[in-house]
Amino acid sequence: MKTVAVTRIGSLRDPDETTRGRVGVVDFPEQPLGPEDVRIRVAYAAICGSDPHLAEGFFGTDVPIGLGHEISGVVEALGERAHRSGLKVGDRVAGNFLRFCGTCRPCQDGRQQFCENIQDYNRPGMAETITWHASQVYRLPEDVTLRKGSLLEPTSVAVRIADKTRIRVGDRVLICGGGPIGQLVLQVMKRNGATSLTMVEPIAARREMALRHGAEHVIDPVAEDQDARAALITGGRGYDVVIDASGAPRAAQGLLDLAAKGGVVVYGAMYPETFEMPLGLSSYLYLKELTLTGVFVSPYAFPRALQILPHLDVDELTAAVFPLDEVDEAFAAHVAGVHPKVLIRCNDLEDVSS
Ligand SMILES: [Zn+2]
Ligand SMILES: [Zn+2]
Repeated sequence: MKTVAVTRIGSLRDPDETTRGRVGVVDFPEQPLGPEDVRIRVAYAAICGSDPHLAEGFFGTDVPIGLGHEISGVVEALGERAHRSGLKVGDRVAGNFLRFCGTCRPCQDGRQQFCENIQDYNRPGMAETITWHASQVYRLPEDVTLRKGSLLEPTSVAVRIADKTRIRVGDRVLICGGGPIGQLVLQVMKRNGATSLTMVEPIAARREMALRHGAEHVIDPVAEDQDARAALITGGRGYDVVIDASGAPRAAQGLLDLAAKGGVVVYGAMYPETFEMPLGLSSYLYLKELTLTGVFVSPYAFPRALQILPHLDVDELTAAVFPLDEVDEAFAAHVAGVHPKVLIRCNDLEDVSS
């Protein structure tokens, strides 16, 4: 079965071709179909900002490392007990690449994200088929295309980020980073009652995209004084909620100065393992009483992501599609940032029109 995998560890941005990380199509066996499992013929798998981190060996260096956790597809086969989920062959679905076991202590304690068996069903979805436990699979609403459905997982991340902000209606909100997660968070926060909604992003096209989807203000952190702009926008009070969706070490520390007293700062991305951010405890935690937090994965967020997805405008994020055999070009386009997001078409499946 054709599967996209990291075949050599290294940075995908390395200018030296002999040491650059490599992604290609390899042959993996199809997973066995257990009694509670669902086999999905994959329609689309989106490239995630975390995929280049996998190529760099963040989660292990034994190649090949199968990729793809943002997928949509059509149910092809069901194990004998998977019917209990209400799923049927032919259903259009998306889902959670992680299965929470339900039996370990964190699962029983309402903290699925720390499930001790989280890797059991974490399988590569940038492939012809993927086999998941029925609990990972969600049927797409009628009006959500397979293309749009491939964004259910990143939407779940946006929902989880919103959860961690503990936003109140009317809170002033700033988002740093106008990549796919930042753009999804923007739309989700808008629907949560965010005000003074501001996107900080150095790339003009991404700032413009944010303005088309509900941002009231945009800041170019390179050409503008972001502290001065933020003070102007918030009347000198700062933002009640600050979200980092950039994962950029150079942006991380400055966000603390944009937060209002008592504000929440969510570091909602992956960061280099070696990056350490200085933190003035007196200024930020004592005098300002900031709450700093992060997100790992998206527990309890998929049902709500499924509810909100039809209401999000993601056409610009799903416009660029490459066939499975052109995965080289797809990753090159992702790394070059020429499209807001890149999708891989793993099978040519009929889609609903919307
Ligand atoms: Zn992702
Ligand atoms: Zn568990």
